[in-house]
Formats: sequence, C-alpha cells, structure tokens
Amino acid sequence: MTTPTAFDSLSLSPALLENLSGLGYTEPTPIQAAALPLILEGRDVLGQAKTGSGKTAAFGLGLLNQIDPTRLETQALVICPVRELAEQVATEIRRLARNIPNIKLVTLCGGMPGRPQEISMRAGAHIVVGTPGRIAKHIRKDLLQVTSITTLVLDEADRLLDMGFAEEVMEVVKPIPRTRQTLLFSATFPEEIRSLSRKIQKNPESVIVDTALAPGIVEEREVFAKPQDKTRALSRILRQEMAESALVFCATRQGCREVAKTLASEGFSVATLHGEMEQRDRSDTLIRLANRSVCVLVATDVAARGLDIDDLPLVIHYDPANDPDIHLHRTGRTGRAGRSGKAFSLVERPVPGSISWGDLSPQPGPPPAPPMVSFLLNGGKKDKIRPGDLVGVMVNEAGLNPEDLGHIHISDTYAVIAFRNGVQRKVEKWAAKGRIKGKRLSPMYVPDIS
Ligand code: AMP
Repeated sequence: MTTPTAFDSLSLSPALLENLSGLGYTEPTPIQAAALPLILEGRDVLGQAKTGSGKTAAFGLGLLNQIDPTRLETQALVICPVRELAEQVATEIRRLARNIPNIKLVTLCGGMPGRPQEISMRAGAHIVVGTPGRIAKHIRKDLLQVTSITTLVLDEADRLLDMGFAEEVMEVVKPIPRTRQTLLFSATFPEEIRSLSRKIQKNPESVIVDTALAPGIVEEREVFAKPQDKTRALSRILRQEMAESALVFCATRQGCREVAKTLASEGFSVATLHGEMEQRDRSDTLIRLANRSVCVLVATDVAARGLDIDDLPLVIHYDPANDPDIHLHRTGRTGRAGRSGKAFSLVERPVPGSISWGDLSPQPGPPPAPPMVSFLLNGGKKDKIRPGDLVGVMVNEAGLNPEDLGHIHISDTYAVIAFRNGVQRKVEKWAAKGRIKGKRLSPMYVPDIS
C-alpha cells in the first residue's frame, strides 16, 4: 500500500528504498514522515525527537542519499554526546547503507584507543560518527578534512550542551563549509539549543512530533495559610508535589534564610539565592539547581532576575508579589519548553478558589532527594580540563557508566560535575587516589544557610 507519507513517495535512491523493505521498515515513523521530505530537499532541520522515534534513520537516510561513494572524502559528519550513542548511530547507518557498495563509515569516540581510528581515517571515510573531543582532535591533526562535508548532524544536542561540549562542538563546526546542510536533533529546546541553532543553521524548519511540546500549561493554585503557618504550608506543598526541583520566592533576604533553614531542618535539600551572596556562591548555587543536585531554591526577586533555568516543575510564591508583572515573571519559570508546571501562592487571607493549607495531603516519608550529587574539581579551562577528559576518566578509571554523569560545568579555574545520586561512594573511592590532569575531585562544599 502506498500512502503519501510512505517511503516510496520520497526521492530516495532505489538502493536505499529496496533495503528499507528488507529491513522491514514499511511505514515511516512520525519523525521520519515529518522530517525526511525536508531533509531530502536539502533544508536545515531542527528536530525534536527522542531515542526510539526513528530519528537516526531520518537523518541517516538523508545523509546517505547525498553521498557519492565514488569520492572517498568525508561528506557527512554526525556528532553525538557519548560513545554508546555514536555506536548505535553508526550501526543503524551501516544497516541503512547495506545496499550501497563501498561506503566507509568510521567512528571517532573518546575512551577508545586512538591508533585504530587514525589508521581508519588515513584510509578514508565517507561518513564520520563520533564524540566532539575526539572529532576535534582528528581535525587538529589533519586526519579529518571537513571541506567536503555536505551534511552535518548534531544528535541529542541538549545532552551535548549539558555535558559541557559547547566549545568543542563550535570548534568542529566552524571550519565546515557554510553550504552544508545542518540537522540538529534534541529532546528539549531550552534557550541554549535555540541559540546554538541560530549560530549553526540556516533558516531551519522545526519538526516537532511530540505532543508534549505543545505550549506549556501552568496550573496555578492559591493556598491560604496564616503567617505563623506559612512554613508548614510550604513544607506540605513540597511534600505533596514531591518535586525534585522547585523555586520558592520570598520578599526579603532575611525571609529567604529563615524559610531555607526550616526546610533544611526537615531534611529538604535546599539552597538560598539572594543579592548579598558572593558571586562564586551564587553561581555555584545556580549550577547545583541546574544540574539537579539541589531540590529547593529559596530566592528573592532581585537575585532570581535573569535566572535562566528551564524545566522547573514547581514555583511557590511564599510571599506573593503585589505587582502582576513580577508574579507572571516568577510563574514563567515553570511550564517552559512545552512542559506543564504548577505554581502555588501562599495567601494570608482566603480568596475565591483558595484552599486551606490543612487540606493539602502531605506525602508520608522523607522529602524528595535530589537525583544528582555535585563534585568539585580544583582545575578548569586554564588547566586544559575538557569534558571528554572527565567522562573518559570517570568511565575508564572509576568504573562509572556514562549515564552516571550529568551536567558538567567547566569554568576557568574549577569544574562542577554532577553524578547520579547513588554513585558517590564509587567517585569518592576513586578520588582518594585518582587525579584528572593532576587535579583533585571532592564532594562539593555547599554554602551555609546562615
Ligand atoms: P532510533 O530512534 O533512531 O534509535 O530508532 C529506534 C528503532 O526503530 C531502531 O531500532 C530502528 O532500527 C527502528 N526503526 C527506525 N525507523 C523505522 C521504521 N520506519 N519502521 C520500523 N522500524 C524503524
């Protein structure tokens, strides 16, 4: 059966089409149906797709359709955040290319011996799939020529940025001719991704197939609590929602401290943000909220201005703002990027539709634990610390899985690395003796709430 979206109606080469039926790909998946026609037209595409959506075949068929096997030059480059993904992508592209003779694909991944990769690159590759650090190294050594690249793919771009690869990605992308087609796939679209797209793509067409990405919906509720009951009401809301990330707004710095202290004494993972903090403490606190190693941030409006955090499921107006603009601005911290969020306001007098704090149902048991923990490395960009070094050492020497690593933040003189909560023993054990370029890794000092 041929439908307008079936593969046959697309301008794919006969060799690719024939192989698809052999693979049992009879109907395109939604991302393929939406993105492939654009990709085959040569358009830049900004695609929202997760693993399992068939996104690899979407860009894989696109790039294979462009390749001229008679020219042994690198014509397509796929950048992935981790080796495992690069290997999956390589396997899928090889499967898709089965009917095209003599296609050479090389994977360039960190954490693997360099020699075989260099030998393969000297022999030539039509397609290169790899991780940013190792790709950059091959470009620097002139083992990978980028001037013939016509298709560039960034896969799981949000993870690439989360893992701190922004600079390496730019280093790789810059020398590639602007006439290229650039395909950028990401599961989420925070501002960093939109800005990356503006930098490296031309008139991209957005392809969004996940309905969860419809405009975000924020559910607002008013909770009535007398002044003396407000901290208890707050604690109930946090327990009821079991949110792993929440932002609580207080009117004053003093208020922030008191609220945070009470929450900390109840076992919440909490930090404060106010105007009088040292710059270093302030940025460390934001890093910890963004990398999900702290659950609750209690902040004043002034301190929270310009704070760019996506994906906060919960905002609580502990001291509601009188100014509707400020209220909206605060609430706008949740329900971003098409997600749904909740906002609670603690009102000191009942208003129409408000519920009394006593009617909230507290979750039994301890407050939610942060999903990640932060470690501090006493060296940064000035010490030539790169994300690839960190990932490589932690996987190869400390015995972690790549999924155990979260956001990696590298500043000039230090780095903050998030690990999955639960692996800190392994990390500490390694850190007792292990060094990364001579630098020490230790559990992160948490600014005191005082
Ligand atoms: P991906 O999201 O790219 O990791 O793909 C998920 C899985 O779906 C892979 O195992 C693909 O081989 C498979 N797949 C991709 N496209 C199709 C299709 N049109 N029909 C059936 N399976 C597919």
